[in-house]
Amino acid sequence: MYFRKRSLEDIPEESTAVWSCSTEGCRGWMRDNFAFEHVPTCLQCSAPMVSSMKMLPLLVNTNVEMKSIKKGVAIGCR
Ligand SMILES: [Zn+2]
Repeated sequence: MYFRKRSLEDIPEESTAVWSCSTEGCRGWMRDNFAFEHVPTCLQCSAPMVSSMKMLPLLVNTNVEMKSIKKGVAIGCR
C-alpha cells in the first residue's frame, strides 16, 4: 500500500567505470565507454581525469555493453 517511483525503478543502475575530473569541486566526468585509451582531460577545466566508479542507469545501446551482456548472464529469462 505504498507508491513507488516506477519510472525510476525501471532503469537498473550499475556501478560503471567512468573518468572523473581530478579537480576538487569540478563535476566533469565521462563514461569510460566514450573515452580513449589515454587519460582524457576534463572538458570543463582541462585537468587530467582519474578512473573511478559511478552508479549509472544501465545503457544497453553501446557496443561494449551489448557484448558484455551477451557474454554474461542470460537476459532472456523473463
Ligand atoms: Zn574539471
